Amino acid sequence: MTSRVNTVLGAIAPEELGFVAVHEHIGYGMPGSELDTTWWKSPEQRYEETVPKLRAFHENTRAYGAATFVDATGICNGRDIDYYASLSAKTGVHIVAATGFVGGDTALPFFAEASVDYLMRQFVHEITVGIGGTGAKAGIIKVGVSRGFRMKELDLRIYRAAARAALITGVPIFTHLAVDVEPALAVFHEEGLALDRVLFGHADDGVSQGKVNEAAILAGGGRIGFDTFGYDLELPDPPFWGRHRSERLDHFLRVIGEGHVDQVLASADANCSPLGWPGVKGHTVNYLFEQLIPDLREAGVDDATIDQVFVTNTADFLTIHS
Ligand SMILES: [Zn+2]
Repeated sequence: MTSRVNTVLGAIAPEELGFVAVHEHIGYGMPGSELDTTWWKSPEQRYEETVPKLRAFHENTRAYGAATFVDATGICNGRDIDYYASLSAKTGVHIVAATGFVGGDTALPFFAEASVDYLMRQFVHEITVGIGGTGAKAGIIKVGVSRGFRMKELDLRIYRAAARAALITGVPIFTHLAVDVEPALAVFHEEGLALDRVLFGHADDGVSQGKVNEAAILAGGGRIGFDTFGYDLELPDPPFWGRHRSERLDHFLRVIGEGHVDQVLASADANCSPLGWPGVKGHTVNYLFEQLIPDLREAGVDDATIDQVFVTNTADFLTIHS
């Protein structure tokens, strides 16, 4: 079987991905937010907010031949596959959708009470058959640590189901948070999943510092996500997980400098059009081009390294293993 990656418009070859923003959101909301009618946006408003950002992303990636946006939203947080498909068709940006959950505490009771086996079959179905009746297949599995920075029983159940689904289908896993990583490493080890199939995300955010066992992830062959680039404390109204721009950049440069460039991925975790919350103003996926890449060049990082992080590593990670 030839190498491929699932997008919402069908499977493509890894070489067709181009520049990949590996952890982003078309629109993220907490479960139940869709029941609060006070914030509802019309489809036109959502398009108006989202299309220019994706068009700019497409334009920014011109030198790379193509643009890929990995939506890290998963089940219960406003994932909307038909909408993603229309955005992809309209803007030319490849969109990869996720199955799985941002964390145990955003899984609604129906899923929260499900067994490992049920969850595993749910993920496998979304990857191999499709998401609902859309015909679109998920290209990655989302898992995460609940609030409080401790892995809970439900988080672990989801991690185990994800590991089994990853082994059956060959798609990778990315995590919300890299804190309290030891129980996650144990689950992946027990299930026999190679750690290069896992991106341990948000290792770079402000609130995770001092709580991520990077050495264990790197030693095991895992991938480290510097995927909250742009949530800078320099923003006018920064979120609680923000961090000083120079500090995050230094952290990234240090890990690359230590010889781990092949295990590093980067993204902005921005919302095109947040659902039920204001989002973080002034932050978009295009931060990667407007701020990060110029910062990297100024720090002396060459184009080959930048290509490796955003093109080679991402293609290697997203390619379905047969
Ligand atoms: Zn995210």
